[in-house]
Amino acid sequence: MPLLFSPLCLIRRCCCFFPAVISSPFSPPRCLHFASMSATAAGDRCTGAGVVANKRRLQGLVFDMDGTLTVPVIDFGAMYRAVLGEEVYAAHRASSASGGGVDILHHIETLPPAEQQRAYEIIARFEGQGLDRLQIMPGALELCRYLDSRKIRRGLITRNMKAAVDLFHQRFGLEFVPALSREFRPYKPDPAPLLHICSIWDIPPSEVLMIGDSLRDDVVCGKRAGAFTCLLDETGKYGSPDTYTDDIRPDFKVSTLSQVLSLLENHFDLIPQLQTT
Ligand SMILES: [Mg+2]
Repeated sequence: MPLLFSPLCLIRRCCCFFPAVISSPFSPPRCLHFASMSATAAGDRCTGAGVVANKRRLQGLVFDMDGTLTVPVIDFGAMYRAVLGEEVYAAHRASSASGGGVDILHHIETLPPAEQQRAYEIIARFEGQGLDRLQIMPGALELCRYLDSRKIRRGLITRNMKAAVDLFHQRFGLEFVPALSREFRPYKPDPAPLLHICSIWDIPPSEVLMIGDSLRDDVVCGKRAGAFTCLLDETGKYGSPDTYTDDIRPDFKVSTLSQVLSLLENHFDLIPQLQTT
């Protein structure tokens, strides 16, 4: 898939936590801010709560779907155990790094064809059950209306199947363009889907914010692409950002999508999409 931007944008940019090492045309230094943290705690890292003095340009947002735009309903632990078996699942869990877990799709690709088929059928069954109980995440509609009012693009990247994306669009009357499902390869955490969206939008990744509930998939995808990243951690399961390693540390952390509104207002200069008609 042809990509618009230089490979330099894949090189990790610096933030105020860590001195500049390598910079690229699309990777200006920036600050780290955790929207869900107290102003005092955030102040240790950046400028604290409120409007920052030096806002960054932002032209688009790219969302994860499951657990970000929709309420988590898939029991991933049960799904992984069904695919892998208890023993292999436990071994994967034991060997995973911070913020990690089981990358089930990559694991399946290593299996013989017959086992792959069985594994995909199990996943499809769990995902089908999830579709029956699909709910939109609180704050998602308001955030989308806000983005529409500001003429800011919104895209979607998910490791779920295209049918789930279609149902999401249909059921909630929202449209994310482009919306890439796992039929697009390689999938998250590879930066390819995000870079592909930036290419279609014809804007640099450094002017895009990737939002998702997975450090391993969403934040890593965004960071590798050179985009801003925001972790949605509703339950606080990821704990203190102080414990994150550099490769998974997001620029922002929120506990609700509603907090993204103030994050956008306070930290970014939103650049509206030009009308082409
Ligand atoms: Mg997710």
